[in-house]
Amino acid sequence: MCGIVGYIGEQQAFPILIKGLHRLEYRGYDSAGVSLINSKGELSVYKAKGKVVNLEEGTKDKDTTGTIGIAHTRWATHGEPNATNAHPHFSQSKNLSLVHNGIIENYKSLRAEMEKNGMTFCSETDTEVLVQLVEYMMNTHKCDLYTAVQLALKNVVGAYAIAILEKSHPDQLVCARKGSPLIIGVGKSDNGRAEFYVGSDATPIIEYTNQVIYLQDEEIAIMDRTGRLDITNLANVKQTPQLVTLQMNLDQLEKGGFPHFMLKEIWEQPNALRTCIRGRVNMVDKDVLLSGIIDHKDKFINCRRIIICACGTSWHSALIGKYFIEEAAKIPVEVEYASEFRYRNPVINPDDIVIAVSQSGETADTLAAIQLAKEKGAFLYGICNVIGSSIPRATDSGTYLHVGPEIGVASTKAFTGQVITLGLLGLAIAKVKKTLSDDIFHMLVEELEQIPDKMQWTLEHNKDIAQFAQMFTYCKNFIYLGRGYNYPVALEGALKLKEISYIHAEGYPAAEMKHGPIALIDEEMPVVVIAPKRGMYEKVVSNIQEIKSRKGKIISVVTEGDTVVRGMSDYSFVIPDTRDCFVPLLAVIPLQLLSYYVAIAKGRNVDQPRNLAKSVTVE
Ligand code: GLU
Repeated sequence: MCGIVGYIGEQQAFPILIKGLHRLEYRGYDSAGVSLINSKGELSVYKAKGKVVNLEEGTKDKDTTGTIGIAHTRWATHGEPNATNAHPHFSQSKNLSLVHNGIIENYKSLRAEMEKNGMTFCSETDTEVLVQLVEYMMNTHKCDLYTAVQLALKNVVGAYAIAILEKSHPDQLVCARKGSPLIIGVGKSDNGRAEFYVGSDATPIIEYTNQVIYLQDEEIAIMDRTGRLDITNLANVKQTPQLVTLQMNLDQLEKGGFPHFMLKEIWEQPNALRTCIRGRVNMVDKDVLLSGIIDHKDKFINCRRIIICACGTSWHSALIGKYFIEEAAKIPVEVEYASEFRYRNPVINPDDIVIAVSQSGETADTLAAIQLAKEKGAFLYGICNVIGSSIPRATDSGTYLHVGPEIGVASTKAFTGQVITLGLLGLAIAKVKKTLSDDIFHMLVEELEQIPDKMQWTLEHNKDIAQFAQMFTYCKNFIYLGRGYNYPVALEGALKLKEISYIHAEGYPAAEMKHGPIALIDEEMPVVVIAPKRGMYEKVVSNIQEIKSRKGKIISVVTEGDTVVRGMSDYSFVIPDTRDCFVPLLAVIPLQLLSYYVAIAKGRNVDQPRNLAKSVTVE
């Protein structure tokens, strides 16, 4: 979670850091802080509780000059979100300041040890322990910062991405990572001299340079204005940095005229999915080409089982993927919460394929789950959006979503991107395993290719949700129901509503209602039913009847032209007809819009909902 940004070069650092923090704010927004070294060699730290604007406000009358600095926007794990616990943290002598993303698991014992040696602490965080430990190493080993960081990190258990300033060396920036992402941007200032940027993702860097280095686990980097960039690992072995060109542009990080990133990303879905399938669907031959499968054909032909590990929204798309892969490719698929999977002793065989689904590619639990699977010999496949992130680098093969950066904390286009990618994957496996007839395969490819247009239609025909959503702001609870492929859509619809409106919502398989939850139904309870004129239509009609008999309010998602469910509903959202397996891609759109507009009507901050952060890089 949390955002780190750093700069060393010829320009004033403060505006770069503040702009970077705004771009990173979607990763955490409990508090924010900045540390700078000015031309007199003074090391300052300014911090504020809450959003980055509070920090800007609080630093108006302060000296924010300097051409080197680090900054942080926090998602608290250890210690409440207040200004004291905000980063950067000073070391005791105030010679060092440090920002940190992650969790230092043995911070208590380290702190106790240092306290015994007379060191004092100001905050409740694990992070302060880290900066103190670095100073402690400098003092006891009489070594430079770089060596002290190496020594300190050898004593640390946990995950970290850090950036550090040293007052007595205002000409250098040191950073390191393990388990939490960190990127170094390599740029040139106007006078041609070297400058470096540091970011916990690419968003604060892309405006200045597209040349980046992804720091690897247990690597420490030191950079200065002469252009020196040295990277070693904890064992002090020199590493060769790999310069990568970022495939991202600034427009993708702006709201583009929409009031919120979430709404922009909902409306982007048709185009995002067009980009996702481009080059992977060949409409001349009605074929699917996924290099991730073609290059490892035998693995997929011979695998006996697929396990998909994911969290949150990705877990819902994984469930849709399971239904489709089982139907199309006839391979048993299990879907696991990565956080549960990693701490059990799961049975994993060398002929299993483990698929990790994660928008950011940095989800700590998913990363740990695949590391466990790797140890047990499984073949690893990643489905991620962020290019060059940790999961794609840790897996044997994979497919990127290519839906563009997702900034809204509540996932929308990444969900549909994952669902369509899992659809492509199912078709690609079915092709190599020859489990579908040519006719069915071609028909599915044709239908999949039409999905972006049908999404556009769905968006255009559900504009009145904004008005309708006002009626539901009083509600304390919602139920979402679906069957088959639409059961995960019910889960996703409920999650969206919870995340951004803070209304309690539950998703259920429609037929499960009578096994308990139907007791909740009364005239106050809105029930959202996904009822396309497909598959189990008649069964869903009966489920609706059961709810209506108990006076529940029915909000349905129906196929264009349907009059039966429409007639039974208090309100309906309409979607075009498509095959059962692709209905989730359309049915989820009105549910995204519903949660967005209910949250807006309730005055919520939809892009930065309370307690949440994008990219869950802590476990
Ligand atoms: N564990 C640190 C803290 O609670 C860093 C959390 C973060 O990644 O934002 O301050």
